[in-house]
Amino acid sequence: MHERAHDGPDKTKAGVRVVRGLDVKSEALGLSGQCDVVEFHQQVETHFATSDLSVLPIDYKRGKPKAHRADEVQLCAQALCLEEMLGESIPEGRLFYGQTRRRMDVIFDEELRALTAESARWLHELIDSRETPPAVYEARNCDACSLIELCRPNAMRFQKGVAAWFERQLISNEKATV
Ligand code: SF4
Repeated sequence: MHERAHDGPDKTKAGVRVVRGLDVKSEALGLSGQCDVVEFHQQVETHFATSDLSVLPIDYKRGKPKAHRADEVQLCAQALCLEEMLGESIPEGRLFYGQTRRRMDVIFDEELRALTAESARWLHELIDSRETPPAVYEARNCDACSLIELCRPNAMRFQKGVAAWFERQLISNEKATV
């Protein structure tokens, strides 16, 4: 879904400019990335107001809505980047889920903005610590995660280091010789 969303051509139709794979960044958050799709609407009504230009970030997910807010935070981070780059207020965005074929409207309220800024701060703390957190498989989180092929938490499930492996070898050798 990401590839399809990214790779289609940019186009303009009925006052809406659709831009795919748009690079974005925020100096304030220390983040950079790429939006799946950003729609630039002329004179549309949002939940909050009518304006001459409305910017609508849209992110595509292959899974389904999750029990946590990571997808909303990711989309909000895109909006904060776009706001900083364009000097426009962006009150809302959209998430599309492939598995459920469901659209979710996401309002960038103060709570979500604060959570997004806090998440960016945690991210930088994590990078500064130079420690990679362990990949712990949890079906609830991992089965719908787009990073699972890169992360492979199942492969790490039984890996506890060389010392533990050596210990297991010793025990199984001892059992074999008893
Ligand atoms: S697959 Fe990896 S990155 Fe994704 S939720 Fe699981 S542990 Fe986290």
